[in-house]
Amino acid sequence: MPSFDFDLFVIGGGSGGVRSARVAASLGKKVGIAEEYRYGGTCVIRGCVPKKLFVYASQYSEHFEDAAGFGWTVGESTFNWKKLIEAKDKEIARLEGLYRKGLDNAKAEIFDTRAELVDAHTIKLLKTGQTVTAETIVIATGGRPNLHTALPGHELCISSNEAFHLKELPKSILIAGGGYIAVEFANIFHGLGVETTLIYRGAEILSRFDQDLRKGLHEAMEEKGIRILCHDIIQSVEKTENGLSVRTKNDKSLTVDTVMLALGRTPNTENLGLEAAGVAINERGAVVVDEYSRTSVANIYALGDVTDRVQLTPVAIHEAMCFIETVYKNNPTRPDHELIPTAVFSQPEIGTVGLTEEEAAKRYPELEVYRAQFRPMKATLSGRAEKMIMKLIVNAADRKVIGAHILGHDAGEMAQLLGIPVKAGCTKDDFDRTMAVHPTAAEELVTMYSPSYRIRNGQRV
Ligand code: NDP
Repeated sequence: MPSFDFDLFVIGGGSGGVRSARVAASLGKKVGIAEEYRYGGTCVIRGCVPKKLFVYASQYSEHFEDAAGFGWTVGESTFNWKKLIEAKDKEIARLEGLYRKGLDNAKAEIFDTRAELVDAHTIKLLKTGQTVTAETIVIATGGRPNLHTALPGHELCISSNEAFHLKELPKSILIAGGGYIAVEFANIFHGLGVETTLIYRGAEILSRFDQDLRKGLHEAMEEKGIRILCHDIIQSVEKTENGLSVRTKNDKSLTVDTVMLALGRTPNTENLGLEAAGVAINERGAVVVDEYSRTSVANIYALGDVTDRVQLTPVAIHEAMCFIETVYKNNPTRPDHELIPTAVFSQPEIGTVGLTEEEAAKRYPELEVYRAQFRPMKATLSGRAEKMIMKLIVNAADRKVIGAHILGHDAGEMAQLLGIPVKAGCTKDDFDRTMAVHPTAAEELVTMYSPSYRIRNGQRV
């Protein structure tokens, strides 16, 4: 048996990398982990966590307005962007510290450096030039925003990375894309008082979600004052005296302070030594893995966004835990990518699990669709024009709930809980015999007794 410096070496200190390093180390393995930027990765440092803090900040403008309906008089309110950034940075630094502490406590060796593969068992640590060897290697280098370099003027645009560190809050912003990041940031900037336009190439924002919710969110965002341009893309961006001048494919011209591109993310696989080690990547630049997250090299695994399977933090963590089971607990475990609950932290939120109505209609001959649309209780006194949509998609043949979709307050929280019965294969009858919690919005999910409509062979009847 050859001897190695480490049992496991992990490249990348994000969600998947830290989890696999920490748990392997706590099992008594000798573990090293290298990160070139900050421990915590995209989620903690410039993704989910700071984004959610921004979402909270951006909701206060509506909270202040709504307060009047409940008898409150709120004095003149002002917003200080620098204070928010400072508070957010402090919290992120605290979380980064916890990530490092977790690794430290488990006795994993932390390297603050970029690391590259030299061969299938050798890693070069760039800061010192030192090389180390490992029996098993995990690549968990994540992804980065697609910079869209074909766009003239792309270098004048920002991505979500920079949005977390803008020196000043812009007065106006144009956000390109119709996915999670574009939609969430359009609502954040609008809530903070920025004149916001979203431009999306397709017919309706959030292409992978249920059509009903997409339309409902689109209407709600426009109602608030967010401008949404569909069927259009940015064609050029130029710097002028008044800001950034943007031309679109549909011949619109706009002048804004900031243009943000949110056009998907690219796996971080360049200059990692993958070729030298024999690790294969696909046409999108993602590391190719088998169902156990093993790459084309037997002792090298890859987890999280770098594999471009499902780009979500909990998925990377789950993949890491499956890796631990497979490699260190003699219990081969495949990550389960079916029925992943997810939320878009738009305003109103979207929470969803399972098949959309459109996907289910293609897969099953008959569906029952239960749908409720109503004004949430809080809006009665606040006077805010907002609606909530709840939808259950049921396979008529066995009555299983195969999709649950919510638009409205706390939809993300509800999606987490709905993930359990949908994953467990509960039927509509199981929902029906569950007592309602009153008065809540969620009680609608167990009180929709007859289908709103049916879909037979793809046709609504
Ligand atoms: P998404 O994949 O969600 O959206 C990308 C958007 O860019 C889509 O609307 C896509 O259009 C559009 N697009 C892609 N290429 C082009 C192009 N060449 N020209 C014009 N439009 C283009 O990616 P995001 O960047 O928003 O987010 C990255 C990932 O991060 C997400 O997939 C998600 O998994 C994760 N994430 C999760 C969050 C959460 O859980 N709440 C929050 C933020 C990110 P089309 O739809 O037509 O393909």
